[in-house]
Amino acid sequence: MTKSIATPYRTKALLQKHGLSLKKSLGQNFLIDANVLRNLVELLELSENAGVIEIGPGIGALTESLAEKARKVVAVEIDGRLVPVLREAFADCRHVKIIHADVLELDLQEVAEAEFSPGQDLMVAANLPYYITTPILLKLLHSGLSLRSIIVMVQKEVADRIAAQPGHKAYGSLSIAVQYYAEAETVMQVPKSAFLPNPNVDSAVLRLRIRSNPVVHVNDEPFFFEVVRASFGQRRKTLFNNLTHNLFPREQKEAVRSLLNSADIEPGRRAETLSIAEFARLSEALLELHRQ
Ligand code: SAM
Repeated sequence: MTKSIATPYRTKALLQKHGLSLKKSLGQNFLIDANVLRNLVELLELSENAGVIEIGPGIGALTESLAEKARKVVAVEIDGRLVPVLREAFADCRHVKIIHADVLELDLQEVAEAEFSPGQDLMVAANLPYYITTPILLKLLHSGLSLRSIIVMVQKEVADRIAAQPGHKAYGSLSIAVQYYAEAETVMQVPKSAFLPNPNVDSAVLRLRIRSNPVVHVNDEPFFFEVVRASFGQRRKTLFNNLTHNLFPREQKEAVRSLLNSADIEPGRRAETLSIAEFARLSEALLELHRQ
């Protein structure tokens, strides 16, 4: 490799050389801005012992920078046309492994055990395919991998929803699903011109710093998330109305009201005003009634 792949000229030349056209259906908007790429890689704070999982390497724009700094890079690409291009580009890099797979189907624990050493400083970096951002992030967070951080390019609106705090319009069940496991922050806005072709939406880099333990303790995780989803059911409705419409039968209405009061959560509040700690308190208070 001589020149950076992440330039309009090199990207177009590589696509032409291999006779490739980009697939919108796979979210193929390739990064062609070397400054954005540099900033994204800096955010990873790669240590000497860094192991990076990249999702959707495309023709290797980000992979190339990761390979320069990390001890090991495992890149997972779904598009079989790009796999030989990547294998050729990284033929001399024994520490770069290209896996041809759909990341949503892949057993990430198995990959991590096979490719990284125990105790390796593990993280995920990606310019994500936007059509499946949320399932990918939730899969990573539920995977049980011991990741230090996840740094990803996503649609700006999704980054805002994930990083939103209580009281903000964008705060919702996705914010809580992610912030339960990670500290979330939008760290960089990225213009459409940084990609080939330009996407229709604005982009941003999202940084998730994975917590060693979930931010709150709950006795029944699936029920906690059920309570969160039910509470946000219809945003204009109060917490009480959402819970009694979406989660509990009519005959338990009064029991729900008194449990909310005893947990010191005013039933007339709206879900978007509750912190994660309050949702945890709420789900603990409602758990016994739910199990009846
Ligand atoms: N990393 C490259 C870059 O920044 O130029 C490409 C990023 S492009 C936004 C997203 C990439 O994800 C594409 O290469 C696409 O083929 C790949 N992709 C889409 N769906 C995927 C999936 N389910 N599993 C793995 N890769 C996927």
